[in-house]
Order: sequence, then structure tokens, then C-alpha cells
Amino acid sequence: MANWQAWMKEAAYVDGAWVNADSGETIDVTNPATGDVLGHVPNCGTAETERAIAAAQGAFGDFAAMPLMDRVGLLWKLHDALMDNQDALAELLTIEMGKPLAEAKGEIGIGAQYVRWFAEEARRAKGEIVPAGVNGRRILVTKHPVGVVGMITPWNFPSSMLARKIAPALAAGCPVVAKPATATPYSGLAWAALAEDVGYPAGVVNVLTGSARKIAGAMMDAPEVRKVTFTGSTDVGKELIRQSADTVKKVSMELGGNAPFIVFDDADLDKAVDGAMASKFRNSGQTCVCANRIYVQAGVHDAFVEKLVAATKAMKVGDGREEGVEQGPLIDGDAVAKVQELLDDATAKGGNVACGGKAHALGGSFYEPTVVTGATQDMAFAQEEIFGPLAPVFKFETEQEAIEMANDTVFGLASYAYTSDMGRAFRLNEGLQYGMIGINSGLITTVEAPFGGVKESGLGKEGGSQGLEDYLETKYVCIDGV
Ligand code: NAP
Repeated sequence: MANWQAWMKEAAYVDGAWVNADSGETIDVTNPATGDVLGHVPNCGTAETERAIAAAQGAFGDFAAMPLMDRVGLLWKLHDALMDNQDALAELLTIEMGKPLAEAKGEIGIGAQYVRWFAEEARRAKGEIVPAGVNGRRILVTKHPVGVVGMITPWNFPSSMLARKIAPALAAGCPVVAKPATATPYSGLAWAALAEDVGYPAGVVNVLTGSARKIAGAMMDAPEVRKVTFTGSTDVGKELIRQSADTVKKVSMELGGNAPFIVFDDADLDKAVDGAMASKFRNSGQTCVCANRIYVQAGVHDAFVEKLVAATKAMKVGDGREEGVEQGPLIDGDAVAKVQELLDDATAKGGNVACGGKAHALGGSFYEPTVVTGATQDMAFAQEEIFGPLAPVFKFETEQEAIEMANDTVFGLASYAYTSDMGRAFRLNEGLQYGMIGINSGLITTVEAPFGGVKESGLGKEGGSQGLEDYLETKYVCIDGV
């Protein structure tokens, strides 16, 4: 079992070798809790990416033809390697990203669960035999790996966002060319180190750090890259969808969210507060499924606010590596400025700060966990993703009003509602325009379920049986004269 330093690779991994950028240029990586430079990673560009794609394409035939149980066996080993090194990988993640150690451990753990899930799903990548309309014919539908997959991931879950892409790709028999976020490259490079350790053939897993535009550009231009899977902002996702047109690639897009969290009069209030805290403040509010707008029915509004404010004030803020810390720093100063801007907009339009409301005394990119009441639909956070520890509370009267306000956004990723009325739960499932709905639950990510959004929150699913399907091509063969 290695320590975190051993997993901190400062080179890109291309065709089974650790390499520097052709230019020799590097990029500094900082610890957001201290502002200290942690180390450097290569600033790769087009040529290095083209070599990675060529290596992946070269490895594709043999990898796709590998006996299924050998491919599954490699995934089992990858799962075990993640779990054996969970503490060290979590510490590396916290140091480069800032989230509390317990959350980082959870992230490595769920990444390992995705690997195990897709090892299981690989054995069920079944085709079908379909009844033919005429005698003498047989129709066979078969599944095949799509080919080389390009992957681009964000900084907020630097390990598990890759898990949800690398695991199904490898399960399906697809080689990988991945680019982790520049702010948090080490957890991405650790995937290459893990793949190397467990014995993936050269070229099957490639991870590059550097210029997003150049690396993504090379992926999008290459006809060999048959699929690109992206997690990140909606604006970049839209650009990649446009770029995918020239080579007609498959795309999966896990994009931004603006989750409504609705609390009805008949809810269990303590559970609703626990759910709101978990959903809003996990990762300091920096998840795509974080509650962005908390709608509370008039009858319980004041009681809910009182409990929410008490719980928010009780949270311990600090360096994620310190014992008991529940809120780490935001990723950088821009993130702090964005939260402040959204709060200023809300207070200018009549919102009241119930707690928090300013940069934290710890300095750097720490921000006080904040609750603002009296929120209204004309405030900027009603349309924009906050991505920080700011909880706006809106008041509503009727179920219909809550559904209409919840749907009043271009996004459609996660939504939540607390109610004890099962009939209402069904009506919400039908009425809320969201890919995921948590009823009486503020934490809904799980490997068995298809994670993904509708509307401008994305295309495709990660997890569930659907998560493997996205890496498979369907073919059909018609046999006549039987
Ligand atoms: P981002 O700016 O879109 O960056 C995501 C990734 O795209 C990074 O690797 C980034 O590289 C790269 N990138 C940036 N500009 C690019 C370009 N022009 N072409 C190609 N790649 C480009 O998003 P972020 O700020 O890191 O992440 C936060 C966003 O991700 C939020 O909107 C959040 O909701 C979303 N998210 C969605 C999900 C989901 O499952 N739906 C999960 C997590 C996060 P650099 O780091 O080098 O800039």
C-alpha cells in the first residue's frame, strides 16, 4: 500500500509510458486549502494527443478480442487496487481539490463500486434474436465496443467522474484517451498508474494533462475516436457537440444542473433538513446535483428555515485534511467571487441573509456557509448554477406552483422533494422535468441507477445498464435462406 505521494504522477501516460510534453512545458498545481504549489504536470497539446489516439487505436483490436473473463478480471483487479489504496488516493484528492477527507474517501469508494458494477454488466452485454417477418430468415442483433473513447472531466469529482467513464469503456472493450481537469490532474493520472499496475496492455488507457482546447480539439478531429464523453459546463458541452458533427461521433454529455429541492407541508421536517444539508453543502456546494433552489411550502417555511440555519451555522469549515471538517475551500478565487456576486444580486432584490454571507475568516478561497431567505424567481441563482455554499430559500403555496417554479430553467439534471403523500410523489415524477428525482432523499447517486440529465443538462447516462450501452454499438445481421 503506497502513500499519496507515490500516486502523485507528474507525467502524462501515453502508450504505456510516462511522458513529458513535447515542449517540456509544465503547469503548476496548487492546494486550494493553502494556496501552496503542490507540483507540476505536463502541458500537452495536439501532437501528444494524436500519439495517444494512435496508440489507443492500435490497441483496440486485441483489447476488444480479449476473452471476456480476462477483461472482467482486469476490472476486478482495478477495483481491488482502488480499495487497497483508498486512503492514499483520497488524501491526494483532498490535497489537490479541497474536499473533506471523508468525502474524498467516499469518492474513491464509489469509483471502485462503478468498476465492480461495470465488470458485472460486461457479462450481460447481450444481443437478441428477433422474430423475422418472413419465413427463412433469422435476425440477430449484436453488441460491439464503439472504439476509441475520448474523455474530458471536471475538477469537482476528479476521480469518480473518470470512474463512470473509464469503467464502462474498459468493460465494453474500448481503449481510453482521457483528459482530467487542469486544477485536479493527479487523481486522473492516478487512474493511469492503477491501470498500469494491474496490467492493462499499453495503449488501452492513456491520460494526458494540458491545454483543454488542443487536447479536446485533437480528440474531436480524429476519425478514430468514435465517442467522446464529457462532464462539465453546459457551454463547453455545447461546443463539443458542435465539433462532434464533422466526424459524426457518439457523444455523452453530463452538463450543468440547477436542482430544485422542494419541501411540502406534509414532509418529515428533520429528514428534509438533513437532506437539504447533504444535498446543498456536499463538496462545499460544488456538485452538479447540489440543491440550487430550496422551495418550502408556506406552512412549514419558518420552522424549516430555523432548523436549516442552525445546522448551517454548526458546520466546521477548514482544511479538508483536518479532523471533523465538513466544509473545505472552494476551488479558487473565481468561485468565491461568483458566490458573492449571486448573493449581492439576491440581497439587492430583497433577499435576507439568515447566516453567513461573506468570505470566511480563514481567507483564501474559504466562504462562509450561507442561507438567504426571501428568494424569488427574478434572482440570478434561479437560473444560474451557484456551485458554492449558498442556500437560497423560496416560499411557495401550492404543488402546481412548486412544479412550475422548479421547471423554470433550461437545466434538468437532479431534483428533490420531501413529502409523505405517495400520490404526490407519483405526480412529481410525472411533472418534474428532470433526469433524476429524489423523493425523501438528498443523496441519489448510486451505481445501479442511470445518472444523467434532460434538457440542457445533457445526453446519455452513467451507471445502470444504460451506462454500458452508451459504449456499445448495435449491429444487426439478417441471414436469409435458412
Ligand atoms: P468546465 O469548465 O466545462 O471544465 C470541464 C472540463 O472541460 C475540464 O477538463 C476543462 O479543462 C475542459 N474544458 C474547458 N474548456 C474546454 C474547451 N473549450 N474544450 C474542451 N474542453 C474544455 O467545467 P468545470 O468548471 O470544470 O466543472 C463544473 C461544471 O461541471 C458544472 O457546470 C457542473 O454542473 C458540471 N458537472 C456536471 C456533472 C454531471 O454529471 N452532469 C458532474 C460534475 C460536474 P481545463 O480544466 O483544462 O479547463
